[in-house]
Amino acid sequence: MNDILLMLPGPTTVAPRVLQAMNQAVVNHRSAIYGEILTETNELMSKTFQTQNDSYILTGSGTSAMEAALANTVNAGEKVLNIVGGKFGERFMKIGQAHGIDTQELAVKWGTAVDPKTIAETLDENEDIKAITVIHNETSTGVAAPIEEIGKVMKNYDALYIVDTVSSLGGDYVDVDKFGIDVCVTGSQKCLAAPPGMAAITLSDDAWKQVEGVTSNCYYLDMKAYKKYVDKVPPQTPYTPSVSLTYAMHEALKIIEEEGLETRVARHHKAAEASVKAVKALGLELFADEKVSSATVTAVKMPEGITDDQFRGTTREKYGVELAGGQDHLKGNIFRIGHMGNIGYKQLAITFAAIGMTLKGLCVDVDPGAGVASITESYL
Ligand SMILES: *Cc1c(COP(=O)(O)O)cnc(C)c1O
Repeated sequence: MNDILLMLPGPTTVAPRVLQAMNQAVVNHRSAIYGEILTETNELMSKTFQTQNDSYILTGSGTSAMEAALANTVNAGEKVLNIVGGKFGERFMKIGQAHGIDTQELAVKWGTAVDPKTIAETLDENEDIKAITVIHNETSTGVAAPIEEIGKVMKNYDALYIVDTVSSLGGDYVDVDKFGIDVCVTGSQKCLAAPPGMAAITLSDDAWKQVEGVTSNCYYLDMKAYKKYVDKVPPQTPYTPSVSLTYAMHEALKIIEEEGLETRVARHHKAAEASVKAVKALGLELFADEKVSSATVTAVKMPEGITDDQFRGTTREKYGVELAGGQDHLKGNIFRIGHMGNIGYKQLAITFAAIGMTLKGLCVDVDPGAGVASITESYL
């Protein structure tokens, strides 16, 4: 077995229990047996989203749920406000454009979080905005947006509140009903710690009302079809789902339920705080504004004079730790430590040992054990 430690913002390490769950007979997806596991998985999803609304698993990666969120709730030609502070914010805007939606960008400096007041001002000036898209955890920069505060602002407007929690659900605090989120999406391979290939979406009553009025040009991701099929006896999906991944999602969500959502979120926050301290102990600099830094991924500036290949190549090849690089203009300028899913002091100790040894090996003047020492202090 490949024993590289994945410290990525997805895919994350999948527990043996979840892998074993996939090792079951592939049943008829229109059978009662599948109907039962689908219903349970969707219900566990709603619990994890903390919503009374129905949730739907989709066979597809996180981006499929982002596309479903926009394409089902907004007509071509209608206006959407996209909060863009990184790669994934940008993706939501591009999805809108692909569907002929009139996108308006609210640009946020990469590494910082949006101010909810700016959203209110923009909505005041543009009464025709039908929805806003927010990335809760901007994985490309390691920034968490204040989705609870934005939710308070959104209560004063009719525009739908669409939130991407792909890299935060199960790792940071997400309460769909309390925050007033209308459409929330997530993916399997991040904090939920299931294999890649599944996504999930939940929609409020207000969102469904808007869905009814959309002449959707979306076929595979037509949410009306998902709703119609889940209401059948037995419950099912419109097209053949990944039966094996449904088993995996079911098991991964059961693990989350057993750990307790609150405990799990606290564990992620602890890992984030410990990582930030260890980064500093190694004399490295954070990329994101520390006040808004993510609970699930820490972005770090690449030390001067070291290339991405040298740094991440060494942590991977020599020390067996896989870190993520930067995207777009941040390529080569930052590296990212994903601490999502099944992460605790063990994984962080190994990771920071690898980072320390790599830096020392690349002739950086550093105490190579300073990061590990900091992790042990954090978890003592
Ligand atoms: C990973 C991720 C996605 C989805 O990416 P897929 O590769 O389609 O699973 C979307 N949004 C955010 C914030 C992500 O981190």
